[in-house]
Amino acid sequence: RQAKALGHGLMSAYNHALGRLGHRALEHDLRAAIATDQLYLVYQPKIDFDSGDLVGCEALLRWRHPSLGLVAPCDFIPVAEESGIIVQLGRWTLDEACRQIRRWLDAGEVAPSVAVNLSPRQFLHGDIVEGVRASLAAHGIPAGLLELELTETVAVRDIDRVIAIMHELKRLHVSLSIDDFGTGFSSLSYLMRLPVDQLKIDRSFISHLVTDQRAQALVKGVIDIGDGLGMRVIAEGVETPAQASLLSVLGCSVMQGYFFGRPMSPDQLEEALRVPAGK
Ligand code: C2E
Ligand code: CA
Ligand code: CA
Ligand code: CA
Repeated sequence: RQAKALGHGLMSAYNHALGRLGHRALEHDLRAAIATDQLYLVYQPKIDFDSGDLVGCEALLRWRHPSLGLVAPCDFIPVAEESGIIVQLGRWTLDEACRQIRRWLDAGEVAPSVAVNLSPRQFLHGDIVEGVRASLAAHGIPAGLLELELTETVAVRDIDRVIAIMHELKRLHVSLSIDDFGTGFSSLSYLMRLPVDQLKIDRSFISHLVTDQRAQALVKGVIDIGDGLGMRVIAEGVETPAQASLLSVLGCSVMQGYFFGRPMSPDQLEEALRVPAGK
């Protein structure tokens, strides 16, 4: 809930409207949103703090509702997940992200890799492997430019199936990340079996990093685990220079957060590509 308070005054106003609207109406409006171009993606840079290079970005979904205005994902993703609309929503997002990569490639830009969030239901019931394959093919995208972010909660549901699907995705050569790592209580023995390339340390650890010894110990632990398992580690929600330099000292140099850039339009990200961070 806290994230909503940040930045968008619209969000709290929306919550009231959302309450009145109810789930059924929201479901209905969401279906219309997919059909009538109310959705769009914004892109948040991922930066290598040590070199200042932009190493990729994360695609984040936005919904401009015709009467309610901008709706935050935390207000509609859960409803979409519950009702199953997430499968169509996720397909749209994946396809739009690939379309954007294609635009960057066509513009002659060095296309950044784009990470797309997958919800558990979309992952387990959305024929995700075929969806990813189709979107890559439709836009002629090198699979190395697409990253998929999954929360560890997905692994708690049906670990053997999750692992099987992950291996199929790896066969397509896309890269896989565990999102919000450290918040899902999944067992470390699961992690050992998951063919993932990257761990994203959850923002909740980063926000306490500078003042809380225990957060520091946990973050250091995650970095060591990632190193030991050959996984890249990235910190999300980095808001201050103090957090960034401490992370770098602890051995994590890839970061994402308001300190480096808010989620932005493709044009703005292109600008960031031309002018490396910190230069
Ligand atoms: P997430 O995947 O953990 O995404 C990061 C969220 O943290 C984003 O919020 C981002 O704007 C925000 N954030 C980034 N840097 C900072 C920072 O320095 N400080 C703070 N306080 N916040 C920061 P957003 O865009 O509202 O998305 C919220 C969540 O909604 C995402 O969390 C993800 O779980 C979900 N979501 C967003 N887009 C999609 C999507 O296309 N598909 C699915 N399934 N879920 C999505
Ligand atoms: Ca994410
Ligand atoms: Ca995250
Ligand atoms: Ca998070």
